[in-house]
Amino acid sequence: LHYTPDSNRYDGRMPYKRCGNSGLLLPAISLGLWHNFGDVDDQITAREVLHHAFDSGITHFDLANNYGPPPGTAEINFGKIFRESFQNLRHEIVISTKAGYLMWDGPYGEWGSRKYLLNSLDQSLKRMQLDYVDIFYHHRPDPNTPLEESMGALDTAVRQGKALYAGISNYPADKAAEAFKILKEMGTPCLIHQPRYSMLDRWIEDGLTHTLEEYGVGCIAFSPLAQGQLTNRYLEGIPSDSRAGKEHGFLKTEQVQENIEKVRKLAVIADARGQSLAQMALSWVISHPIVTSALIGASSVRQLKENLECLKTLEFSVEEINAINEIV
Ligand code: NDP
Repeated sequence: LHYTPDSNRYDGRMPYKRCGNSGLLLPAISLGLWHNFGDVDDQITAREVLHHAFDSGITHFDLANNYGPPPGTAEINFGKIFRESFQNLRHEIVISTKAGYLMWDGPYGEWGSRKYLLNSLDQSLKRMQLDYVDIFYHHRPDPNTPLEESMGALDTAVRQGKALYAGISNYPADKAAEAFKILKEMGTPCLIHQPRYSMLDRWIEDGLTHTLEEYGVGCIAFSPLAQGQLTNRYLEGIPSDSRAGKEHGFLKTEQVQENIEKVRKLAVIADARGQSLAQMALSWVISHPIVTSALIGASSVRQLKENLECLKTLEFSVEEINAINEIV
């Protein structure tokens, strides 16, 4: 059970990029615990994936209050593994959590009130057995709470020392810009925005990337593999052990079927580049100048190893970019 981290973990294989205008460097690839770390998942694999990630220079792990299932168990399981393996490495690891989606019953269990956000952060810290997280996010915009209140809660979390930085996720460009202004006035500049971004979902290119650049805010792109669709996972159908095949997985089979033709065509381009489709999808996200980090998931060490190889081929020719654009 004892874990000794690889002494070569900072040997240059993993690039670290500055998060917006901040002082914080993040690995080009970060690991998210949305799936694969709940009580329904195999904890031996979970531990192995975290160990391999850290050994490979992945210094950032992303969580949220509701990750599981059941909700909260990803934080509990991460907390256990952290205590066993990483306890004396807290200063080398960036841990984030979020609040915004439904976490408990009653009027204070979701969205963006100060009451919900600060109570949820306290619960997350208890579940993970941590004194502080590095980044605390508002997980989604709340149309019914003044932005000043939600951002005020993030500012308070930072002032209380329960978070080192504040972030927002899933905010459209105009709301994000407002949030950045409010946080800056409060003296807690927004570190980072966490939007969905992949070859199959390019909504951020329509305004948000420009806003992030303007305000000097970093960008960590979630689901860069479109939940596994941009890999070889579904080329022969829907395996029962895949996210789309599992009952609790968030990926729907209809979505996979809708995209499969595009995916097959993209796989041909990847092959010509000498990459797997997963590797090309990650190289593509990471090579966008606004992207600080690609936030991946992995259900095995094998997947993680394959994905990390993308770092060897981050460049694209104009022809390749055009061919990809034509397909998507
Ligand atoms: P990805 O798009 O990277 O999908 C990961 C999944 O794809 C894996 O769990 C695995 O699924 C499959 N996969 C990965 N690599 C391979 C490979 N080489 N070959 C075959 N299949 C592969 O990211 P996620 O959707 O998991 O999101 C990543 C993180 O982003 C989350 O953990 C979370 O931290 C964050 N996130 C944030 C959200 C937000 O609202 N802020 C929303 C969603 C995610 P399988 O089980 O099929 O093996």
